[in-house]
Amino acid sequence: MTTLYIAVPCYNEQEVLPETSARLIDKMQALIDGGKISYDSRVLFIDDGSNDKTWEIIQRLHSENRLAAGLKLSRNRGHQNALFGGLTVAGKYADAVISIDADLQDDINAIDLMLENFENGCDIVYGVRSKRDTDTFFKRVTAEGFYRFLKFMGAEVVFNHADYRLMSKRAIEELEGFGEVNLFLRGIVPMLGFKTAAVEYERAERLAGKSKYPLKKMLSLAWEGVTSLSIKPIRFITVLGAAVFIVSIIMLIYSLISHFIGNTTLGWTSLIVSIWAIGGLQLLAIGIIGEYLGKIYLETKRRPRFIIDKFLN
Ligand code: UDP
Ligand code: MG
Repeated sequence: MTTLYIAVPCYNEQEVLPETSARLIDKMQALIDGGKISYDSRVLFIDDGSNDKTWEIIQRLHSENRLAAGLKLSRNRGHQNALFGGLTVAGKYADAVISIDADLQDDINAIDLMLENFENGCDIVYGVRSKRDTDTFFKRVTAEGFYRFLKFMGAEVVFNHADYRLMSKRAIEELEGFGEVNLFLRGIVPMLGFKTAAVEYERAERLAGKSKYPLKKMLSLAWEGVTSLSIKPIRFITVLGAAVFIVSIIMLIYSLISHFIGNTTLGWTSLIVSIWAIGGLQLLAIGIIGEYLGKIYLETKRRPRFIIDKFLN
């Protein structure tokens, strides 16, 4: 029988955790009672260096219920690293691991279908949002823009799939083989291949507490996604450079002709505009190259993606 682990990254989630844990543990118990998963299955809460009562709550859950396990990271490492830590640890004990956010915006009833697909030989099952009615207009527009932007920039991701997915033990083992420190799971998991499936569900509102992904974090996640998966931005620079070069040749010819005609008093405006435009473009281009250089620098350090402080299983 399948041993299932549910990995839940939690960062300052004291408001939702009591409710989330109750629902997840009930769900687990129902699956165990229904003979779908084994008695060794667990809900693994990963405390991503929270500075509220999150870890206390996890400890209490663990002492009260054998289905609750806890992993405490040594400090806040961000959603992707926390999730990766959870997957790595859970993958040692489980046949399949489902990752889900602590706010239960993702419908836990999709777990049954995910398991069914897993039993039918799928190694990866994506949870895909069918609707976003409950998200605010702003969240919806920015989130969908996020997927479009990623695609445009050359990062292949599953549309409207966040990190709610099932992965088999061997898929996780293969994932660990991807040595990158700059982690964007949504982009890497599709690279694994294997037989995959998608399960649709409706996204609900956050149970309680505030979003831990304000616009700033979302933009940085998008940027992480693009720069860790694709070199398209650098290619844009090359194309832009070529275009500017062509324009400058045209300008050269134009100014030479103007010079010989004797028409040289004009030109302050175009001069000042081009200085600013070229200066701006150059700074932008250097900035983008610098971003990649920074990534290479971090990758060469091979720093650990997460450090475990405590593990309750
Ligand atoms: N999270 C985390 N570390 C962070 C930020 C977020 O582990 O530094 C977790 C958070 O606890 C939640 C999940 O990532 O379980 C998704 O965050 P949230 O629900 O706030 O994002 P949103 O749904 O608003 O995009
Ligand atoms: Mg959420």
